[in-house]
Amino acid sequence: MKKYLYKILILVIILLAIIYLVRSELFRLFPSTDLVELSKRELRNTALQAIKEGDNPVSAVVLYNYTLVGRGHNTMISDTNAAGHAIINALNDVVKTMGWTKFNSLDKNSIIVMSTAEPCQFCKSFLLEYGIQKIEFMNKLPIDYWFTSYLDDFNYEVKKRQLEPSDLQDSLIQLKTSRQINFQP
Ligand SMILES: [Zn+2]
Repeated sequence: MKKYLYKILILVIILLAIIYLVRSELFRLFPSTDLVELSKRELRNTALQAIKEGDNPVSAVVLYNYTLVGRGHNTMISDTNAAGHAIINALNDVVKTMGWTKFNSLDKNSIIVMSTAEPCQFCKSFLLEYGIQKIEFMNKLPIDYWFTSYLDDFNYEVKKRQLEPSDLQDSLIQLKTSRQINFQP
C-alpha cells in the first residue's frame, strides 16, 4: 500500500513538472476573444509608427475596462534605449498620462495588455511587477525560448548573492533594508 502511494506521488510530481514546463503553451486551450477591432487598429497604426521611426514593428496597447488607456511601440533604436520595449513603453504611457496615484488605484484585473508579439522575459517581469496578468498577443515566442528562460531563471536564483549591508556603509551613506537610504551630506 505504501509503495502504491509512493508511485502516485512520483506520478503527481512528474505531472506537475510537465504542466510547469508546458505552461507557456496553455493559452492554446483558451483562445483569446478579447482582441477587439479598436485594439487591432491601434496595434497596427502604432507598429507602423515604429517602422517610420526605424524601430522594430512591435506595438502594444493597454486597455482598462476595455477602454484604451495607453499605447507604445518599440523605441530601442530611435531612443537608443535598452528598455524601449513596446509593452514597457505602453505601460509607461499609462503611468505618465494618469500619474502614479491613479495608476496604483486601478483594479489590475481589469487591465488587458495587447501586443503584436508575446512578451519577452523582460516585459513579462515588468507586467508581473505591476500586478498585470492579462496579456494577449499575436506572434508567439518559440517554445525553446521558454525552456531556456526557465533554465536562466533557475541559474539566476542559484547564482544571486546577498551583499553584507556593512560592505556598503560609509560615513555618508547608510543603507537600510526595505529599500531605505539615509543620506547625510
Ligand atoms: Zn520585451
